[in-house]
Amino acid sequence: MRGGERARGSLGSRRLAAVDLSVTFLGTGGSVPSARRSTASVLVARGGERLMFDCGEGTQRQLQRSLGLVQVDEIYLTHFHADHILGLPGLLKTYDLTDREVPLKIYGPHGLGDLFSILKPIVGRLHFGVELVELAPGEAVAHDGYEIQPFEAAHSVRANGYALVESQRPGRFDLEAAKRLGVPEGPAFAALQRGEVVEGGSGPVRPQDVVGASRPGRTVVLTGDTSPSPATVAAAADAELLIHDASFAEEEVQRAAETGHSTVGQAAAVAREAHVKMLALVHISSRYHVGKVLEEAQEVYEPTVAPKDFDVIEIPFPERGYPELIPNGARDRGGSGTASTEPPAVREGEAVPEPPPADPPRSS
Ligand SMILES: [Zn+2]
Ligand SMILES: [Zn+2]
Repeated sequence: MRGGERARGSLGSRRLAAVDLSVTFLGTGGSVPSARRSTASVLVARGGERLMFDCGEGTQRQLQRSLGLVQVDEIYLTHFHADHILGLPGLLKTYDLTDREVPLKIYGPHGLGDLFSILKPIVGRLHFGVELVELAPGEAVAHDGYEIQPFEAAHSVRANGYALVESQRPGRFDLEAAKRLGVPEGPAFAALQRGEVVEGGSGPVRPQDVVGASRPGRTVVLTGDTSPSPATVAAAADAELLIHDASFAEEEVQRAAETGHSTVGQAAAVAREAHVKMLALVHISSRYHVGKVLEEAQEVYEPTVAPKDFDVIEIPFPERGYPELIPNGARDRGGSGTASTEPPAVREGEAVPEPPPADPPRSS
């Protein structure tokens, strides 16, 4: 009986082992940062792993103002325009000065090595290892339970989008059915889950008699800077969350095309075609009122949000519901204690209009 309970307990925990997956927006602005929006950076947390995608200027300050100085495991750069990488030297230097020892892997498109040759005199000698890995589209990076799959973005320079794609999960184990078929609790249950046939009360019991169909994992896609592209539609097919370039409003569709960016409507059309559960618009030019451009997008694809810096999106397994936007989630749960010493962030659409930059960005 005790053994049976143990077996059930371990099966139960295996079934319930829900790995948390969340996205924290550290920088949601366009090429020009504003008082309220920093340049590009997103932190993805899956279980105990922390992956950063892009590291715009001031990213370490954005961390300090919210979650604390998170020791990320890996950094993925979409491309090397300033608004996506200028935060790297500062973050690396601070890691060094705070005695980081754990090695850091940095991934990016071809040219990553050249970028670091340029950054070397700025960053100086680091006391932790930095491994640089150049990734071409299709060269997936394997992790325990998921992959990071780079795909080709359509920007003014070579650029990768990235898809975090979880492995399929085993189907549900039907305890009642197993008992009914006379399978002894214990090792036989585990054998069935491994796909083996075991002996039941009246003959062999096959895995498909007691284990349901395998269940899909979750997919989160980040495009970085890109024009609307079939590669994004393919990468984001049925994804839980698509984080897409939305640099321009519809009246500047020509300008978007010239600079390798998307309008909000184009981003929404990609999301609709890919049938994603949620679209998050980022890289919106500071010249726009975000509430208005969000409405434009929602007319095309309703499940669209425009996260602000420090917002969090929680992504449950598909059978447990839809992704949820938690406004200011990174500051409300910041563990460092530094968050509470800062004045509250000004929320979008309230007071303090952002001054327009002198000249709109060209091609970042
Ligand atoms: Zn950019
Ligand atoms: Zn760019």
